[in-house]
Amino acid sequence: MPTSQNSAILNDGINHPNIDDVINEPSFFPEAYVSLETIKSNYASLSSFVTSAETSAVVKANAYGHGMAEVGTALLSAGCRTFFVAYLSEGSALRKALGSEPTIYVFNGIRSTEITAFSESNLSPVCNQVSDIASALQLDQRIGFALHFDTGMNRLGLSQGDMSEIADHIKARPPNLVMSHLACADLPGHEMNAAQLSRFSQIKSDFPESKASLSATAGIYLGEDYHHDLVRPGIGLYGGGPARPAGIKLTPALTLTAPILKVFDVPEGETVGYAATFQTRRPIRVATVSLGYADGYLRSAGNYGFAVLDGIPCPVLGRISMDLTTIDVSDLPAAPRPGDRVEFLGKQAGLEIQAEAAGSIGYELTSRLGGRIRHVWGE
Ligand SMILES: *Cc1c(COP(=O)(O)O)cnc(C)c1O
Repeated sequence: MPTSQNSAILNDGINHPNIDDVINEPSFFPEAYVSLETIKSNYASLSSFVTSAETSAVVKANAYGHGMAEVGTALLSAGCRTFFVAYLSEGSALRKALGSEPTIYVFNGIRSTEITAFSESNLSPVCNQVSDIASALQLDQRIGFALHFDTGMNRLGLSQGDMSEIADHIKARPPNLVMSHLACADLPGHEMNAAQLSRFSQIKSDFPESKASLSATAGIYLGEDYHHDLVRPGIGLYGGGPARPAGIKLTPALTLTAPILKVFDVPEGETVGYAATFQTRRPIRVATVSLGYADGYLRSAGNYGFAVLDGIPCPVLGRISMDLTTIDVSDLPAAPRPGDRVEFLGKQAGLEIQAEAAGSIGYELTSRLGGRIRHVWGE
């Protein structure tokens, strides 16, 4: 029996395909195709709107599921020089991918046990509490750090009550960056925006030597008052996020497709899937697709989500299973075949529309793409 992974010839004399190639055959897996050119042009579009400030890139959570090293490398070549990640581990992987040039900030702070690791990878911590500042000040002087103030979101960041303690700490060494984060930037009329802007302006005046940063993607759209010295877009780089000004052209960078396993007809009065939540009212044609909630296609998309094949929407029927999704392909002019790929995200299946069908947001759909998805990066 062949036990070696590379045994190409069995003793039947026939040339068999390599076993590794068989078990990893890409056409049998869901695929996320990521257009790096699209991410670069989204970056260019955002930075040309933000004329008075630097445009950084937020590449946490594997660049929202798009591939941190590949996206980071593309954006470095597009001129981006400041990156943000959430974890020290993400920062150290990004440093390996990007080399020594760019500044890399780590949102989640720094603990005393992590000082050497931040130094080794030349990573700049974002300090969210006074204990972070104590650790940051033990880093080599060449490594900068940020202070993150909570201006009303009540999630993470230093409070105004911390100010006197902070002042003692940083007299000798001002932060490179002072930042905050908006809670309601995707609701342009919300009163929280102006309130947070005003608190942030006051805080920033206490740090005349530091750069200031308030806005992520949606904050950029609120206008120049919200841009300060540096903006921190994430979702916009990937072509998602809330409604934007007409001057900003963003295109979804990720196309998620999955192969059909089986196509079959179901008579009227039958049910489809777990708990029999979908009942046919007429004879329909069903395709079962190799994509499930283990791959990040949210279970809440059951009976609401959709796939697109040849430009025709195919509604999800019944519950999403761990590995499988059933779709209605009755409207297609000809029955699809096993192996045909259907689109769940991309130019035809819009990210935010699919997300809304799942009761979620584009951020969650791309960042939760599972480990079985095959990523392909291209132009
Ligand atoms: C994730 C994150 C961003 C990026 O937000 P988007 O809405 O994706 O642009 C910016 N700043 C902070 C603090 C974040 O956590």
